[in-house]
Parts: sequence; C-alpha cells; structure tokens
Amino acid sequence: MSFSELGLNPIVLKCLETTGYTVPTQVQRDAVPAALAGSDLLVSSHTGSGKTAAFLLPSLHKLAEPSLLPGVGPRLLVLCPTRELALQVQKQAAIYGAGIKKLRTVCLVGGAPFGPQFQAMRYNPEVMIATPGRLIDHIERGRIDFSRLEVLVLDEADRMLDMGFIEDIEHIVSKTPESRQTLLFSATLDGMVGKLAMNMTKSPKRIEVATKEEHKANIDQRLLFTDDVGRPK
Ligand code: AMP
Repeated sequence: MSFSELGLNPIVLKCLETTGYTVPTQVQRDAVPAALAGSDLLVSSHTGSGKTAAFLLPSLHKLAEPSLLPGVGPRLLVLCPTRELALQVQKQAAIYGAGIKKLRTVCLVGGAPFGPQFQAMRYNPEVMIATPGRLIDHIERGRIDFSRLEVLVLDEADRMLDMGFIEDIEHIVSKTPESRQTLLFSATLDGMVGKLAMNMTKSPKRIEVATKEEHKANIDQRLLFTDDVGRPK
C-alpha cells in the first residue's frame, strides 16, 4: 500500500514526499484510514513504529481545511508524557504540515520558561502539543479556549498514567468539547489505560499493532547490588 491510497489531502501527501518515506508502516496503514473515517481510536503501538505520523497525518488532513467554527483556540491537542516526546511530535508536525497555510504549533512543556510559551500563544496556534502539568498551568491562567478543538491525541497514554497524570488528563479532557475525535496511543491497552479509554472515547476502533511479545522485548531488566548507605565501610 502507498501513502496515496490512505485518502490523505494532497497538501499533506506533498509534504510527505520531503520525508523520504516510501510506504506507510503498519500502524499508519491501520490507523490513518480509520481516523479519516472519523472514528475514535485505541491503538497499541510502540516507539519506532511510526505512531506519531499515524495520528498527525489524519489530524493535519483536517487542519488543511479551514475550521467551520468561530474562535481562535487550538484545533488539535496532543498530550505527551515528557518534554522530549512533545518536542519530537512538534518537529514532525512541522514537517507533515509544512504545506498548510499559516499552520502554527505551540509546545507547552514543563521545565521550560513560560515567557516564550505565552508569546507563541498570541499567534493562536491551531496545533498544541503539551505535557499535562504545564497545560493545566496555562488552563488555570485562563489562556486557552478549547471550544473549536477537533482532535485530542493521548500519546504514550500508559506512560502518562505511570507518571501519575490521570487527574490532570481527566481535568484537561473535561475542558474539551464532546464533539472531539479522540485518538489514544499506548504500548498497552490493558489495565488502567483501558479504563481511561472507556471514559474518554466513543465507540472506539481498537487497533493492536504492538503484540504482548513486543512489550516484553522492550523491557530491559537489571539487578543492581548496592552498599547499605546506613553502614559505610
Ligand atoms: P515514531 O514511532 O513515531 O517515534 O517514529 C519513528 C521514526 O520513524 C521517526 O523518526 C519517523 O520519522 C520515522 N517514520 C515514520 N513513518 C515512517 C515511514 N512510513 N517510513 C519510514 N520512516 C518512518
């Protein structure tokens, strides 16, 4: 299957040509058409599978057309567990969305000064990529209007839960419109992630790309013996 068979807007396809990717990865083949059809998605996939493009491409496809709603708030929100991942997502969004007129992105992450983030928000970015804690800080300052949000992505949802972001995520989701499309990506869809997904998605399509064996293969186990700090020799 080629990228042109996925049903993407020609503007986005043109940007993809600059990446040198020849064919979509499995998660892209499965997730992109389903997202374009409007479904909420629960996708189990791991880093390196091409998952970022799997949620960015169908989202940017929507952003290639102007919003039908009034207002200036973001149309796409991607929540990530870490600043590093958020910056990588922003980098890829800039590449795949390079052909979309006036597409602006903002990255709201902790461990970075607020000043440039406030500055970037003045330009009404349509794409917002954020870590949950810093986004809550901005929401509490009354700076974000989610009324025209079209797509909410939870990237590496299992890691966000491991890091204790559940309440922050629930709070953020409560600020977004019911009409949104929700795309949840996670290494696993079991346990807490499954419960989170049930509350946040509507009749989601489940796509399992990462197998249980792959999850195990990604676990690096070490046993480190250390001295007892209470009894120095
Ligand atoms: P990700 O799983 O999103 O972290 O992506 C891993 C890497 O795969 C990134 O560096 C992407 O640029 C690259 N990538 C994404 N889609 C493709 C594709 N269809 N063909 C080749 N590389 C890709």
